[in-house]
Amino acid sequence: MRRKLAAGNWKMFGTEAAIAEVEALAAMFPEPACDILICPPATLISRMSLRMGGGAVAIGGQDCHPAPEGAHTGDISAAMLADAGATHVILGHSERRADHGETDALVADKARAALSAGLVPVICVGETLAEREAGSTLSVVTAQLQGSVPDGLDIGALIIAYEPVWAIGTGKVPGLAEIAEVHDFMRENLTTRFGPGADDTRLLYGGSVKPGNASDIFSVSNVDGALVGGASLAAADFGAIIAALAAS
Ligand code: PEP
Repeated sequence: MRRKLAAGNWKMFGTEAAIAEVEALAAMFPEPACDILICPPATLISRMSLRMGGGAVAIGGQDCHPAPEGAHTGDISAAMLADAGATHVILGHSERRADHGETDALVADKARAALSAGLVPVICVGETLAEREAGSTLSVVTAQLQGSVPDGLDIGALIIAYEPVWAIGTGKVPGLAEIAEVHDFMRENLTTRFGPGADDTRLLYGGSVKPGNASDIFSVSNVDGALVGGASLAAADFGAIIAALAAS
């Protein structure tokens, strides 16, 4: 059985005062029926993980550099994230692919670095609106999985987030049948490539998940949780999404 996961991506939001939201969340779910992960800006990882004290809310990074260390101004290595208290790292988010030109090959290198540092990679894939309208969603996702997920790893330890680019931060969500189609397809694709271990890989849906649509999305086959942006910033909203996941 795959344990469900509610993951929050805080993007470039939040300073010291925002830690209170995570403390409130932790107080709401002392023994949650699903895993909870918050990925704050790098500046908050250490403080937040100290305040969470290894409890029910895990803390993750939003990116890492593929090298263990070096002359890379402004970058953070996977080992540094782990040292700060992170247990997971989001990789290949569409905003990084768009803003920083990240390629599938780079995401795969980052995933290898994350695994070497003991972090669980959360690898993001998803099509643009133009790609969906052209009917190429599954071929885009196939190429991203092939290029971003390295060979020869313990696939069950990995987390994949399907995030249609056009659904991120827009309030638009694919139909449930469309989400099911991609999630079923990803499970099949990973199983063909990696074998039955892919049955343990958690597949998250991401893109405008809110308290009002979470239950419906969590009812979809092969949706093992969500990667949530905007609605993860406030404990009340993210708490409602976690409650929906726990009840699913
Ligand atoms: C995200 O940034 O990964 C995301 C899914 O954002 P939102 O929930 O705001 O659409």
